[in-house]
Amino acid sequence: MQNWELTHRAWVEVDLNALEHNVRALRGLLKPSTELLAVVKADAYGHGAVTVSQSALAAGATWLGVATLPEGLELRAAGIPAPILLLGATNTPEEVQAVAQAQLQPTICTPKQALTYAETLATPLAVHLKIDTGMSRLGTSWQSALEFVQLVQRLPNLKIASIYSHLATADDPNPALMQLQQQRFEQVVAQVRSAGLTEQRLHLANSAATLADPDLHYDLVRTGLALYGLYSAPHLSLHVDLRPVLQVRARITQVKTIAPGTGVSYGHLFVASQETRVATVAIGYADGVPRLLSNRLQAIVRGVRVPQIGAITMDQCMIDVTAVPDAQEGEVVTFLGEDGAEQISAEDWAEALGTISWEILCGFKHRLPRVTVRRAPQFEQSAPSSR
Ligand SMILES: *Cc1c(COP(=O)(O)O)cnc(C)c1O
Repeated sequence: MQNWELTHRAWVEVDLNALEHNVRALRGLLKPSTELLAVVKADAYGHGAVTVSQSALAAGATWLGVATLPEGLELRAAGIPAPILLLGATNTPEEVQAVAQAQLQPTICTPKQALTYAETLATPLAVHLKIDTGMSRLGTSWQSALEFVQLVQRLPNLKIASIYSHLATADDPNPALMQLQQQRFEQVVAQVRSAGLTEQRLHLANSAATLADPDLHYDLVRTGLALYGLYSAPHLSLHVDLRPVLQVRARITQVKTIAPGTGVSYGHLFVASQETRVATVAIGYADGVPRLLSNRLQAIVRGVRVPQIGAITMDQCMIDVTAVPDAQEGEVVTFLGEDGAEQISAEDWAEALGTISWEILCGFKHRLPRVTVRRAPQFEQSAPSSR
């Protein structure tokens, strides 16, 4: 048993071997001149931003991306020197000062934000201009992009490091809308280049686009989900072999046998139809196991898949271990991840809930300690022999 299995009731395991494998696998899809930006917003999709950033940088990422100012400050406080792109918008002079002080690289979305930066900055700062090509979230519309870029170019202390956009449908097997966005982006690039701006990096791709089409890679790709070993859509799994990084486990705290007709948990949403061995496990919705999955979740005990039964409560839930007669107090249950030949993925949870795997990953609460592991891959690829 690992030490944390004796001191924690429930935890998230973060497999740094899998993460580094994924970084290398993604890098393998890129031309040597294209850089990999590891998107580590939302505490690295729940995996722990500092550890993931260090590990991703060691494996070949050269940029980090965060959504918010505090997320960027956390990485700087941990002593991470890599360039950090702030993907979200910053609007107030106070934010601008903090961004500049931490040498984060902000995304400028509107002329107004650009002016706030120009009025506040005392020294030059690398900034990134966001063009809206069809996501309708952040950025200046592609139709007015040239004026926007030229305005920023004239402002003091703003050094345009990149021009970028974000795709709305890169995970859709039908590429039509993505291609339309790319055409709009290309149009902006042509205008900007002919206006004499040639030094700026260009970027467009999230994970889905990185896997879908090398033509979308440009100078840098911004990968989130794929780093964590998940595919944005099933058809994208053909392009690269990724390994899930996160596993969620908890310990059994009590085992009992209940008679037929006995109800389990609040509201008796489950009533035993036969004699049932019930294990109580120390994880609940306050840890990020959605209550909406009550009676629909599965878990793995000793390599056997078993059903979760009854309402998931704040700190605990029950599983039916009738099929695992040896299951006992103190042992580890896997809710997400592998145990023996069985595995449960964030996609399984997402499908049962009617959501996407991104939301599952960043739903695990800080009450669950993140522990790092280095797991040997289940199917280690043998080194290709050259003769
Ligand atoms: C979150 C985000 C990404 C990463 O998206 P994934 O689908 O997780 O790869 C890339 N770019 C921007 C602007 C984002 O906000």
